[in-house]
Amino acid sequence: MEQKLGIEMCGITHFFPKNNSEFVALKDVSVNVGLGQVVSIIGPSGCGKSTLLKIAAGVLEPTFGTINVHGLSPYEIQESNQMGIIFQDHLLLPWLNVEQNIKLLIESGKSDSKVESKLQSLLRMIGLEKFSKYYPYQLSGGMRQRVSLARALILNPSVLFMDEPLSSLDEITRGIMREELYEMQQLSGATTLLVTHSIQEAIMLSDRILVMATNPGRISESIDVNLSGLISRTNFRDIELSDEFHAVFLKVRESLQLISQIELTPRV
Ligand code: ADP
Ligand code: MG
Repeated sequence: MEQKLGIEMCGITHFFPKNNSEFVALKDVSVNVGLGQVVSIIGPSGCGKSTLLKIAAGVLEPTFGTINVHGLSPYEIQESNQMGIIFQDHLLLPWLNVEQNIKLLIESGKSDSKVESKLQSLLRMIGLEKFSKYYPYQLSGGMRQRVSLARALILNPSVLFMDEPLSSLDEITRGIMREELYEMQQLSGATTLLVTHSIQEAIMLSDRILVMATNPGRISESIDVNLSGLISRTNFRDIELSDEFHAVFLKVRESLQLISQIELTPRV
């Protein structure tokens, strides 16, 4: 039997057409996420994070390179309903209400009592129990983002791709949802690739952080986090005060500063 590996992206190069020529959005990017691990991608705007995630999820075909997700192609993972995707622009269908949007990817006829009870617990988790019959236009941006999070989680995905899933939330809700995401990932054991702008989020949620640089989009550093032994449900928020957290924070910040210095240096 084929071994169930995590996510393996090898030699990914991607060109976008630009002014009758080609723009190199990603150059020779390789990413490995072990089975059940969480890897975060952090980097300046425009460095290709969303492009890389879309390629991993099979939404975009790379110009060069190969992708293997749990031993299958991204398309096969999608087809077998094992993939949860949460994109920056939460695509809710405007003509469906909150609970219909959450159940969107569940095949009709498969909505049994198990699905209904999961739906109720997700609505509680995202704090929208009272809004289940509301339509997207009646919700704030943050509420819509929470609905798209629930929609990805109702499938119990074994692979999760998230593109700045908490970016449009206020600071307090963001903290709560970060904790929920952590617990959800621990419970589900989903192999996860997470794009984020927040160093804190990357540290709290991942086993490893990949720092990306721009022009061309590439991985400039891989930083191990190794805080999982310290984090538990009871102390999640206090971890940010620990020396271990601080040490990783400085490493990531330095790496990001180095990139911006390189970018600011004029090329001769
Ligand atoms: P990030 O998510 O890191 O902010 P993106 O992956 O969205 O960056 O974009 C990387 C680069 O590719 C940017 O310069 C962006 O303008 C360009 N780009 C993204 N999508 C397209 C597209 N569909 N066509 C042309 N250029 C694109
Ligand atoms: Mg992006």
